[in-house]
Amino acid sequence: MGSFIPDIEVPFLFLFFSGVLPDHFLLHSLIGAVTIGTIISIFVTVYLYPILTSLLFHLDKVKIKEICRFSPSLALSCMLGNLFHIFLDIPMHPFNPVLWPFVDPYNIVGILVLIFTKEGDTILGFLYARIMANILMTTIMGILLTVIIVKNKENRGERLLIGKFYSNSKT
Ligand SMILES: [Zn+2]
Repeated sequence: MGSFIPDIEVPFLFLFFSGVLPDHFLLHSLIGAVTIGTIISIFVTVYLYPILTSLLFHLDKVKIKEICRFSPSLALSCMLGNLFHIFLDIPMHPFNPVLWPFVDPYNIVGILVLIFTKEGDTILGFLYARIMANILMTTIMGILLTVIIVKNKENRGERLLIGKFYSNSKT
């Protein structure tokens, strides 16, 4: 959940602050990720995730609530998810608010964008960087998903949505 939360600001910023603010801002900064991003992630994990997974995937709500109850390791996990997300975003974006408000987001240009920028066209560089990053991430995630599916003949859905704790807690 932590690695998902930073992007909830993208549609919001795009719809309400288009032309005023970039579509990555507070939740893609270190300060935002370890404060607001982490708090939102904890809230969603503890209160919404058990409801959604039990409604959509028919998992045992009581068991998921127990697994998703607040703990220091859950808070740390949520914070790390937020941080990994913003670090993963840096190479493929033409601006990065990671050090906002200390460094202007437009002064941090992703390395992939620079590599793919030809004749100063950063928009085209951004497009190629996104495509390359998407291919790379889809390949890595696809391999990991295949491993999980092959290794877990039972409780695949639970394993994907909750992790190993769900199947362990069943015994
Ligand atoms: Zn992002």
